[in-house]
Amino acid sequence: EKNNASEAISLEDKFGAHNYHPLPVVLSRGEGVYVWDTEGKKYYDFLSAYSAVNQGHCHPKIINALVNQAQTLTLTSRAFYNDKLGKYEEFVTRYFGFDKVLPMNTGAEAVETAIKICRKWAYEKNGIPENEAQIIVCDGNFHGRTTTIISFSNDENARKNFGPYTAGFININYDDLEALEKALTTQKNIAGFLVEPIQGEAGVYVPSEGYLAKAKALCEKHNVLFIADEVQTGIARTGKLLAVHHENVQPDILILGKALSGGAYPVSAVLANDEIMNVIKPGQHGSTFGGNPIAAAVAIAALEVITEEKLAENADYLGNIFREKLDEYIKTSTIASLVRGKGLLNAVVINDTEESDTAWNICLALRDNGLLAKPTHGNIIRFAPPLVMNEEQLLDCVSIIIKTLKEFER
Ligand code: PMP
Repeated sequence: EKNNASEAISLEDKFGAHNYHPLPVVLSRGEGVYVWDTEGKKYYDFLSAYSAVNQGHCHPKIINALVNQAQTLTLTSRAFYNDKLGKYEEFVTRYFGFDKVLPMNTGAEAVETAIKICRKWAYEKNGIPENEAQIIVCDGNFHGRTTTIISFSNDENARKNFGPYTAGFININYDDLEALEKALTTQKNIAGFLVEPIQGEAGVYVPSEGYLAKAKALCEKHNVLFIADEVQTGIARTGKLLAVHHENVQPDILILGKALSGGAYPVSAVLANDEIMNVIKPGQHGSTFGGNPIAAAVAIAALEVITEEKLAENADYLGNIFREKLDEYIKTSTIASLVRGKGLLNAVVINDTEESDTAWNICLALRDNGLLAKPTHGNIIRFAPPLVMNEEQLLDCVSIIIKTLKEFER
């Protein structure tokens, strides 16, 4: 087998759809906080597959669960019961404090599932006329790539010419309680409020303190479901198990994905209490792979790792050091103007226009210096390493990042 990076890239270029623009590095191995390219060069991973590999690459406990289950039973579909799913359902509902879970595979599927549950609940439990439910969403949102989800995206590139779109969504400003209250009091047939506790893809926007708790209270007052999309922010990433826990909020519907498997397998989930989840009856929703025994075994192991290795505490501790060190550098920097985030979900804003390629070029230089990160946008670089990092490694990464940014000062 030939380990040739340019060959790997040209094969993808020739035979794959061009729906991504990857940073030019070809990875062939991962362990913990590190990945290696085909030439054997080692890098710190500072993206974690968009926050899926929170437990680190190829975590032995998770891989063990995956391999053992793969050798025993992989898929039955939900036409039959399997001996792992119920155990996982008990585990995951207790872990997050809900009555019930609906298992899916990807983040976007879980968001679609939550939307369907919310709409049906509105009709059956909230007196909203059939097929008239409206869901409030936030500008700058990212919830996935399906036709319904892009219907309420503000990202023209993600949306344009993919219509006709799905109706039933009302966009308001993010981090704007007045806008939420106004929509709740003036608009008809509101069934839910779908929100990211921190907007990851938009560039790691952290809302004002108190926003989530007050938004939840407004939803309760108006008998509207508070739906938290924690696909990116959940599972210890922001320094708590869930980002809503920073404000002691328990959502009515919780959406999880990505790190629910530690990146070892596609696993997503929607959690809610009986009153809400029981609106879904046999034949109304599902997926061939959703709730398969590998996913169940992997997700239990992935969540156990989060608890056993105290990854939320570690993300909180290291995140504070990361922002403190970068803040200090930024005071005198001519290339970076801001670091923001929570736990180990952070972003640095580069002093250049959104259209410039400075942030991209910085990421190429970071790669050359042994660290992999990517811009969310023209001038914003996200930094989200695996949560199994130790302090010495983090400090090493901080010096790589600062050294690289200095190369771009002018
Ligand atoms: N919701 C959020 C908040 C996300 O960040 C993402 C992925 N970046 C998704 C949903 C979609 O997840 P997936 O790519 O697994 O469909």
